[in-house]
Parts: sequence; structure tokens; C-alpha cells
Amino acid sequence: MLNVEEALQKILERVGPLETERVDLLASLGRALAEPIVSGREIPPWPNSSMDGYALRAADVRAGETRMPVVGRITAGVMPSRTLGAGETMRIFTGAPLPEGADAVVPQEDVRVDDGHVVLRGPIPAGAFVRPRGEDVRPGDRVLDAGAALGPAEIGLLAALGHGRPLVHRRPRVAILSTGDELAELGSEPGPGQIPNSNSYSLFAQALEAGAEPVILGIAADRLETIEERLTWGLGADVLLSSAGVSVGEADLVKDALTRLGAELHLWQVSMRPGKPITFGTLGRTLVFGLPGNPVSAMVTFELFVRPALRRLAGHAALMRPRLRARALARIANPGARRGYLRATLVDDGSGYGVRLTGDQGSGILRSMVLADGLAIVPPDTTLEAGQEVDVIVLRSPVKEPTP
Ligand code: AMP
Ligand code: MG
Repeated sequence: MLNVEEALQKILERVGPLETERVDLLASLGRALAEPIVSGREIPPWPNSSMDGYALRAADVRAGETRMPVVGRITAGVMPSRTLGAGETMRIFTGAPLPEGADAVVPQEDVRVDDGHVVLRGPIPAGAFVRPRGEDVRPGDRVLDAGAALGPAEIGLLAALGHGRPLVHRRPRVAILSTGDELAELGSEPGPGQIPNSNSYSLFAQALEAGAEPVILGIAADRLETIEERLTWGLGADVLLSSAGVSVGEADLVKDALTRLGAELHLWQVSMRPGKPITFGTLGRTLVFGLPGNPVSAMVTFELFVRPALRRLAGHAALMRPRLRARALARIANPGARRGYLRATLVDDGSGYGVRLTGDQGSGILRSMVLADGLAIVPPDTTLEAGQEVDVIVLRSPVKEPTP
């Protein structure tokens, strides 16, 4: 049976970035850049003041008091009308260009104004309160790489460089199907023997969070023809995700339906807990994943296999969640021959992270995912005692909000 890394490799070797498109800068949040950005501008384009004050030449200021005439006024948005001469100052405001000849700004709160002059109390260093030309970006600087995720700071930088429609990759379209005779849809009270469909919703949210555009295909009953027909609804998508109906022992309806539709299956089972049965295949241009039905197994296999594939489709250079090493705060046991991806809470103890399991690790216990900051990766047949270290996949920031 394949381990997680081998399975992921089998998936990723069949996945490449989707086409590119130009989008409005304001709609680019979370997208991956499809080309590097090389600056054609200098930011700032001229030295400017970082304070409201007076521009001058530092060398003109002596020890003790210096009285200097104010010969001009420079506001933001206007270039100085003349050069600053020896012994002169000009009134200047934050962001306004420094006049030629000046090399420093004294803040207004540090001077006394007296009859068209300012009086300084003492010397100031050259460069004081001046933002040098090009201190942020110089022409030719490669400021962003292809594959970079666009966050608020990247978007601000693109605006500063004049990129109103960045080239990004298309978002992957993901069609989500739940299978099972026992499933009751949200909005109807589950009848005898029924359980609520939760996978469609958690998987939709995971896909959305991963940067994809998910759609829900509803629930298919456990009949081969029904599943087959419903799967065809999703074939226009980049990724077709189904959950349940892949367990060994029962009829492997999802796998059979995929085979009948002509899918080429590349992977069937992965040695992991939770979630051993997972199928991955390709059907034309569509990637198909048959995830296990248990709510936790579905979410964890999404995390480990579907999310990296979606990130790659979306053109991101960074596919994986961050990991950290943490010390077990109590015993962590993973009996059995499969590697465990155990739901865990992370605690910052000042010098590093401590980790404890969220409680019972049953693959139907969705609240273990609600409580989890991460997944502790525990080797097969292993019991870690308190104090031993373990790798943890970080699902959300373990840095907790400060209490007010
Ligand atoms: P299966 O893989 O079909 O054997 O399903 C495994 C378990 O997951 C069963 O307990 C199912 O009832 C449950 N399950 C399957 N699909 C869903 C779903 N969409 N939402 C919640 N639980 C599900
Ligand atoms: Mg089932």
C-alpha cells in the first residue's frame, strides 16, 4: 500500500497549472501570479519628507541655536520651484519632494518659528526624516515571482507599480458529490436510519478556502447507474470530488462508476489513519477523487491530497500547509500499521509548541476537526510519551488571539 508521500506524488505528477487570465486587481486576492513582476518604476521616485517640518542642509546647522530663513513651501503633489540655497530652509509636508540642495528635514515640533525664520535647538544628521529615492523599489527589481500568492501587501505593491490587471491562473472548478442511501439533505429532518449530509458542506468550504470555485452536485443513492449519471454532471469541472462508497467490503460503487465512465485510476488505497480508502483518477481533463465517507476521513484526505492538487491547478508555488515540531503534552498513541494523522491542539509554551490530541480520534467525530489546530503525524505502532517530539501539519494559526 502506498504511503502518503507516494500517493501525493502520483497525484501531483498528473496536475499542472490551469490557463492564465487577466483579472481586475481588486479581484485578484488569493490568486497566484502567472508571471514575475519586474518593476518599471522607482518608489519613491524622488527623495521626500517623512515628517511635516523644514527642509534644510544638515551642514548649515551649528551646535547651539541656528536661525534660518524660510524661503519656500513644498506641499505633497508639487515639485519644489527652486533649489535650496546655503543657510536656507523650506516649509515641507509629509510626502512632499525634497528640494534640490536639501539633505535633511527637521520636524516642526523641534523648531521655534519666529518672523519668517525657524530656530533650531541643535544639529541634525544628514538624511534625517528623508525617505531616499528608490528606498522601496528600484527599476529592474524583481519584486514578485510567478506562483506568488496575492495577499493585501502584494496587491498594494502591484497598484504602486501600475499593474491594474495582473496575469493570474484561473481558479479550479470543483464539483462535489455525496453518495449514500442514508444521507438526508440539509433542510430535511433525518428520518429513521438516516444521517445528515455534512461532507458536501465541509468539502465545499475546504475547496473554497483552498482558492477553488466549488459547486455541489447533491446526493446520489447507492446505485451504480445513479452514481455514474451524477458523476457525469461534474465532468465539466477541473476536479470531481465524491465522498463515501469507496470502502472495501461493500460494493465499490464509486470506483466502478468511474471505471465505467472511462476514468483511468491511478491510486486506490493509502496507508494512513484516518481514511485508508481513497481513489484518484483522471477522466479526460478532469481529475477525480473518491474520498472516504466518514466526515473526518473526508476532510483529512482532502487536506493531504486534494488541497495540494487544487493549489497546483491554481498556479501556486506553495502547495503544502506549514509544519512545525511540537512536544507531546500527554501520551499520544497510534496503534496499528498505518501512519496516523491525528487531530491535535497546539499550545504555545513560550519556548516552542506543545501538542495534545483533541480527544477520541474516531473518524466520524467531526468535532475533533473543529478543535484541531493541526494534524500530528505519528508513525505506525507508536506511542509517544509526554515530552517527545512530533511533526504537526498546521491547519490554522496556533497563535491565539490575545485576551483583552
Ligand atoms: P461509506 O464510505 O459509504 O462506507 O461511508 C462511511 C461512513 O461515512 C458512514 O458512516 C456514512 O454514513 C458516513 N457518510 C458518508 N457520506 C457522508 C456524508 N455526505 N456526510 C456525513 N457522513 C457521511
Ligand atoms: Mg456508503
